[in-house]
Amino acid sequence: MARFGMVIDTARCVGCMDCVIACKTENQVPEGFHRDWITTEVSGRFPTLSMEIRTERCNHCDEPPCVTCCPTGASHVEEFGRIVLVNHEQCIGCKACLASCPYDARFVHPDGYADKCTFCIHRVEAGQDPACVAVCPTRCMHFGDLDDPQSEVSRLLQSRRHHALLPEAGTRPRIFYLS
Ligand code: SF4
Ligand code: SF4
Ligand code: SF4
Repeated sequence: MARFGMVIDTARCVGCMDCVIACKTENQVPEGFHRDWITTEVSGRFPTLSMEIRTERCNHCDEPPCVTCCPTGASHVEEFGRIVLVNHEQCIGCKACLASCPYDARFVHPDGYADKCTFCIHRVEAGQDPACVAVCPTRCMHFGDLDDPQSEVSRLLQSRRHHALLPEAGTRPRIFYLS
C-alpha cells in the first residue's frame, strides 16, 4: 500500500491556473466550484517583501477530521494509496465534513454529495500523474509515494526545506511546499 502525497515548488509556480482548468476538465467539476485553487501570500515588511504563489487542494491528511466526523462512512481512506475519498452513494450531504476541514477543501456538489480533490485516483491507478500535475508548464508539482524513500517526492523532502499548511491543526497534511 502506498501513501500518496504531493511536493510543490512554490518558487516555480507562476499562478497560471492551468492546474485549476485541468482539474475542472478532467473531473467535470461543475461551474462555480473548484477542487483546486491558487493562493498568494505576501510576507515581510516593505520594502523587503516576498510573495508565495501556491496551488492548493485537499491535503489528503493522515489524520483527517472529515473522515472521523462523517456519520455514514461516506468519507473514507481508500486502500490503494491512502487517498481520502467520498462515496457519493453513501453521502447524505450533511456538511459535517465541510465544517471539519481546516483547509476549506470541500464543497457540496449540485447532485447533493460532498466533493473535493481525489488525487485523480482514476489516473493514478492507470499509472498516470494527476491531471493538475501533468499539465503544469513549469513542472512545479510532484506526485508520488511518501513511504518510498526512493520516490521523487521523498527525495525532494529529504533534500529541500519545506512546509505544510496549518500543521497546528493536527491533521498531518500530505501536501508539502518547498521553500
Ligand atoms: Fe479532509 Fe480537509 Fe484534510 Fe482533505 S484537507 S483530508 S478534506 S481534512
Ligand atoms: Fe459524510 Fe457526506 Fe456528511 Fe460529508 S456530507 S460528513 S461525506 S455524509
Ligand atoms: Fe484536481 Fe486531480 Fe489535481 Fe486533485 S489531483 S486537484 S482532483 S486534478
